[in-house]
Amino acid sequence: MSAYRGRIAPTPTGFLHLGHARTFWAAFLRCRQAGGALVLRNEDLDRDRVRPQYVAAMYEDLRWTGIRWDEGPDVGGPFAPYTQSQRQDCYLRAWKRLRERGAIYPCTCSRKDLAEAARAPHDDDATDEPVYPGTCRKQPPVATSRAGFNWRFHVPDGEAVRYHDARMGAQAYTAGKDFGDFLVWRKDDVPSYQLAVVVDDAAMEISEVVRGEDLLRSTARQLLLQRALSLPEPGYFHCPLVRDDQGNRLAKRHDALSLHTLREQGADIRQLLAPDSK
Ligand code: GLU
Repeated sequence: MSAYRGRIAPTPTGFLHLGHARTFWAAFLRCRQAGGALVLRNEDLDRDRVRPQYVAAMYEDLRWTGIRWDEGPDVGGPFAPYTQSQRQDCYLRAWKRLRERGAIYPCTCSRKDLAEAARAPHDDDATDEPVYPGTCRKQPPVATSRAGFNWRFHVPDGEAVRYHDARMGAQAYTAGKDFGDFLVWRKDDVPSYQLAVVVDDAAMEISEVVRGEDLLRSTARQLLLQRALSLPEPGYFHCPLVRDDQGNRLAKRHDALSLHTLREQGADIRQLLAPDSK
């Protein structure tokens, strides 16, 4: 087996749809072509929205697509556990390191404060975290414990964060403008997606991250976290998003294109996964 290590990282907060399957299929093919190992990671940190039936469907639907993985919650592997809700210790170590290095600060802004202060969302990136206006950065609250506070990463304002995408070429995002001080830890004592992914990709020795284009900007955030934690930088390959007939990108509410529904209807998934099909 080569040094290539890829991963697919579904979130079981709904049924996976064709958009996910296309991205995971691309990850699977790139890994196969490189003769590497593919990791399946269950990204189940969103306690309020994860459901056991979605976790079960995730495995069945992925197997139905023909994607095969070498390591994962169901098959084990050298970097187990592969389920994020079982990896809290790893995330805590990272939180402590960031705290010691002065890279993060506590924040008491409520969702409402943030919604009112947020600038208009950028382009069509509507689900992306808005730029934080910096209220608690100027005067951070005194935090005697980790829990009970949101923790934000202090980004280097004005710095261009650059990386190479294996499909899309050179990428550059400006800290403080394209994204602000982003969340690394939530006040209910759960790490943010950004922190968990960075910690896990490094711990699982992932050499290339294949994921959707909607995460191009998050990759820039994650590069800053990797640097602050002295972790290696993997390669990146961002896939095009699948859109519906109105041009909106697929969401978990698009039941007609969920893998679950397609499977029940006996759809030809291989044909739907081909990059030139709609
Ligand atoms: N669990 C994330 C998602 O479903 C994965 C994103 C990533 O590949 O980093 O969007």
